[in-house]
Amino acid sequence: MPRRNSNSQSKNSKINSAVTPIDVGKVFGGRWVETKRGKDYTVSRTFEGESLYTCPGCNNSIQIGQESYTVIQNDHFFGEQAAIDERRHWHPSCWKRFS
Ligand SMILES: [Zn+2]
Repeated sequence: MPRRNSNSQSKNSKINSAVTPIDVGKVFGGRWVETKRGKDYTVSRTFEGESLYTCPGCNNSIQIGQESYTVIQNDHFFGEQAAIDERRHWHPSCWKRFS
């Protein structure tokens, strides 16, 4: 007789619709430069969260309101605006692993 395994692990109730809006200006304290693969990046810590971002490190999404690192390449070929337009959002742990 096959056994039914009642697995509740797939239930994800992490998403909380009553998230308190965060004043980005106040939180926006952390900003630093890191060099990876011979390139300089400006990294800032953010809780930006109006849409889901895909982390380039693991290809998983960054949840709304979740802490992430915004990474901007410093010496972008097309200049600063292009670098800002192409900024990526990373999970902090994935960014640390990226080297
Ligand atoms: Zn990730």
